[in-house]
Amino acid sequence: MNAHEQQWESCPSGLMGEMAEGLRSTRARRQTMRSFASASIVLVLLISGVVLTNYVVSNSSAPPVSITCRECLDKLVDYREGVLAPAIRASVQAHLEGCPSCHDAYQKMSGGNDGRGESTSQFERGDLALAMLKSRP
Ligand SMILES: [Zn+2]
Repeated sequence: MNAHEQQWESCPSGLMGEMAEGLRSTRARRQTMRSFASASIVLVLLISGVVLTNYVVSNSSAPPVSITCRECLDKLVDYREGVLAPAIRASVQAHLEGCPSCHDAYQKMSGGNDGRGESTSQFERGDLALAMLKSRP
């Protein structure tokens, strides 16, 4: 009992306050670091979200079946020359993959005109001629 009391009395009066102060500042620092970390995580998520959204938007607006055969044939020359914008190029490519007649026209165009015109209709041949004309400056 006596020893206990003496121990308590020998404890410097300012120690508890100092310890509490130290704990408080440690906690405050930790909290600051935690909020900083979560802020940077949010920032990273935000940035990657924006980048991802941009990527998805530019990707989804680029490809699909949005062009007609006429538009495709109009762009075939530029497509062959490789001077199209990536988005348009993707559209042409997607159309060529899904459209046998345009693909045929492209094959004929890039492989030279071999005069084998049975499978090419009058309309398609006209478009092809137009496209060939455009290819010459
Ligand atoms: Zn087509």
